[in-house]
Order: sequence, then C-alpha cells, then structure tokens
Amino acid sequence: MRFDVISLFPDMFSVVRDLGVTGRAYKQQLWSLGLWNPRDFTHDIHRTVDDRPYGGGPGMVMMAEPLEQAVDAARASRSDAEPAPVVLMSPTGKRYDQGVAQQLADSTGAILICGRYEGVDQRFIDRCVTHELSLGDYVLSGGEIAALAIIDSVVRLLPGALNDADSALQDSFNATLTGLLDSPHYTRPDTYQGLAVPPELMSGHHVNIAQWRRRQSLALTARRRPDLIVAARRDGLLSKADEAFLKSLDASVIQP
Ligand code: SAH
Repeated sequence: MRFDVISLFPDMFSVVRDLGVTGRAYKQQLWSLGLWNPRDFTHDIHRTVDDRPYGGGPGMVMMAEPLEQAVDAARASRSDAEPAPVVLMSPTGKRYDQGVAQQLADSTGAILICGRYEGVDQRFIDRCVTHELSLGDYVLSGGEIAALAIIDSVVRLLPGALNDADSALQDSFNATLTGLLDSPHYTRPDTYQGLAVPPELMSGHHVNIAQWRRRQSLALTARRRPDLIVAARRDGLLSKADEAFLKSLDASVIQP
C-alpha cells in the first residue's frame, strides 16, 4: 500500500507517518508515503503555485501545471499494475465513508491531491483527477486534513495494523456489525464516581455479553442514525431477533 500526497504543506503528514497506529504500521512497512510539493515543480523565481481567478472574485486558485507535474512525478515513482487513482480532496466530491476506506484498503493505494485557497484549476481536474472525495459537508482551509483522515482510516484496516486482529471488525460501520454504530465501552474500575459497569459485561457469559452489545448497537443506531438501520434492513442484515428487539424499543427512542 502506498499513498502519494500532493500538498503545499507536506510536513503535516508526519502526523500519520510518525505517530500511533499508522506510525507503527509505517515502521512495519505495511504502507509507504510519497510527498510531493507543487512548489518544487514551478519554474519561476517566486515558485508560484497560485493565481487570481478568471472572472474575478475573492481568493486565489491553484495553477494546473505544477499540480500536473507533481502528479506525473508521483505516478512515475509508483509500481502499480494498474494506474493508481488520482483523488482530489474536495467539498464537492463524493462523501467519504467506511465503504470507500475498505475499497482503498483492498487496493494498492492512491495519489491524493490537497487543494488550498479557493481550489484548483478545473483543467487540472479534467485532465488528471479520477475521483473526488469530500470529508463532509463543511469547508476546510485545505485538503490536508481530509487526506490525513483518509490515510488514517485506510491504514488501520490493513491486516496487521492493529494489535488485536479483531478490533477493526468491531468498530462502527463495519460489515460484521452490519453497518451499525459501536456499543459503549468500559474499563476499570468497576465503579467510577458511583457509576457501575453494566452487569452484563461483568457476567463472563459470552452469549449474554454479545447480546447486550448487539442490543446497545441497535438502540444507539436507531436513536442516532436511523438511516443505518434502514440500510441494514434493506441489505437483509438484520436478524429476526434484531427486528424483535427494535420493535420492543420505545417509539421515542427510535426518533432521530
Ligand atoms: N471553494 C471551495 C472550497 C475551497 S477550500 C468550495 O467552496 O467548494 C480549499 C481546499 O480545501 C479545497 O480545494 C479542498 O482540497 C479542501 N477541502 C475543503 N473542504 C473539504 C472537504 N469537506 N473535504 C475534502 N477537502 C476539502
């Protein structure tokens, strides 16, 4: 797995390269990282990467040529059998989610483009970009935080990245939880500030623990993300027991 990132702020990527789960996976060579600064692909003394927008308006636009040359250099450094996707971080792109993370985790990686200012020249998008992804319905100052989120969420899915092989399987949105939200977690002490750990988790009875967690997931998802319940039902992923439990929930709990 290799990510190549085109960014005016390549230093920001030390966060995923050096720290935590992704840092450990990097040391284990589960993934590699290429950083490409469009400024290194300029040919004027000021190393200009942006200019004013045609048609007027505020802000600056990233110029096509330094971006395209950076993508060419990134492509040339890769050894994919198929050309790697060139993915622009963009609030106008498809919303990023766990399904896309899993697709990327099953691939050889991607070239991620981080915009800055008002965005990038459309002709660069038309010529070079194969996918556009949005982190969510809000505007960041640059694509770096979106690219960091993508790299982090993909790398933790790589086999061997997490200590406990099962722990990614139990996360929210995972297919083994049929796309539901995760259940609550507790650790020592047994009682904290007068609050006890739910007795089901203390029982040592694996079937009861699994049932408690499943019901917590169902109730939480019904309350906070009823759209995920609808999707799981549509995909035939809810058991009879799940449906019976959902029915038993107070109608007010199922309201979003
Ligand atoms: N004018 C643009 C916003 C530009 S923000 C618009 O209104 O759509 C500058 C850069 O930040 C963008 O080019 C993009 O690369 C990145 N960015 C901002 N918000 C983002 C989001 N929600 N998801 C992914 N990238 C985002």
